[in-house]
Amino acid sequence: MEKLKNIINIQARVVSDSILKVDSFLNHQIDCDLMDDLGKEFHRYFKDKNIDRILTIEASGIAIGMATARFFQKPFVFAKKKKPSTMPGAILSTKVTSFTKNVDYEIFLSCEFVNRGENVLIVDDFLARGNAAMGLCELVEKGKAHIAGIGIVIEKSFQPGRERLLKKGYDICSLARIKSLNNNKITFY
Ligand code: 5GP
Repeated sequence: MEKLKNIINIQARVVSDSILKVDSFLNHQIDCDLMDDLGKEFHRYFKDKNIDRILTIEASGIAIGMATARFFQKPFVFAKKKKPSTMPGAILSTKVTSFTKNVDYEIFLSCEFVNRGENVLIVDDFLARGNAAMGLCELVEKGKAHIAGIGIVIEKSFQPGRERLLKKGYDICSLARIKSLNNNKITFY
């Protein structure tokens, strides 16, 4: 997606050979027009997959998930990183290792918001080692629903996430694929 690549080239900052900072349009301040374009692109790719629901993980996936859900006109839900006391008894949960913080945490989704047999589209901001996406897939599987696809805004293709997800047979749509962040330079595929 050329517009996304241009924005990354202009606004993203290379923090290290493995981490990109996108706080000005995706992770802190949100470029709402760009979110619409990302949602439209995911809709274009997955529109024939009978999507019933969009799922992401808080917080950075929320803007993307919401924009995507508006194009599908389907419900949107996000997995929580803390279990609020207001969550009812029936909860799906699994453990995820954070790429940026290098700690394990649990993610939670109320059973109310994933139905048996549904086709769920998972979206997220980054794909690195694939732990967040795999965790979301586990929640969908625990809810006896089907993973219809995985939409990623920025894939760091030099990390193993894509391979891990492909091995499981998932359909992945990454809107920007980065080959390398070496020497402070962003190289796309
Ligand atoms: P994974 O679970 O695939 O290893 O990492 C994906 C998650 O880690 C994403 O949800 C994202 O929040 C975070 N992440 C991974 N790599 C980066 C990065 O280079 N920059 C930022 N800002 N977040 C990242």
